[in-house]
Amino acid sequence: MSDAIDAVNWGAVPGHPGWYEPARVARGLRALADAANLVQAAEAGSLLGGGGIVHGHSAAVFPAAAFAAPLLLDIAKQGHPAARDTALGLLDEALSSYPHAGYTRVTTPYGAAVPICCAIAHHLRARAVLLAGLGKRGKALLADAAEHWRFEIRECVADGNDTAVFGALAGCFPDGVHAAELNLAGEFTVLDEVALEYPLTEGSHEACLRVMGRHPGELPPGATLFPAECGELVH
Ligand SMILES: [Zn+2]
Repeated sequence: MSDAIDAVNWGAVPGHPGWYEPARVARGLRALADAANLVQAAEAGSLLGGGGIVHGHSAAVFPAAAFAAPLLLDIAKQGHPAARDTALGLLDEALSSYPHAGYTRVTTPYGAAVPICCAIAHHLRARAVLLAGLGKRGKALLADAAEHWRFEIRECVADGNDTAVFGALAGCFPDGVHAAELNLAGEFTVLDEVALEYPLTEGSHEACLRVMGRHPGELPPGATLFPAECGELVH
């Protein structure tokens, strides 16, 4: 656990200099991993929640939260019950807080300039079995994470003025027409009208979206779509 915490150079993770205190992250995560009672878990939680990964009083989230999320999930799995509750509480806070302007996105293995909330949601989905087994709180986190859907474009077909886009959907695309952010190698634009055409196969992540008023050339394979509102969140 300690190695995984030290493997991240928290000082190099961007964050608003007036609010983000990188030293709090490593100290807080270590203290939370080692916490053996309620008081120790609360102390670790206040390090992380008072300028480490979020600033609770102003409801701001830092990019560090996206990198801390898998470590908090490890703590939720292995730690003391009080540490587990603190970790889940921090993940919930991180997912629902707003980032500061200029510090709203992170680089991930599946794309650059990904909104912090969507990067956190990705980690939550990756640990769905763990969270589903952690009672109401774990299940609520999973439900929240599903709203931060992600769609990877594989193939496009023109359909009148629209384009049918085939690819892999993670999370849950909501009913109706929604604005989506098209992210290609960290460059992003907003598509005003996107709807779920149909899920391709029962039980798989394959899906088809309809992008209104755009032609296939505007929707290159390899690009990723996110909820537009996630890209617009700012403190
Ligand atoms: Zn999001």
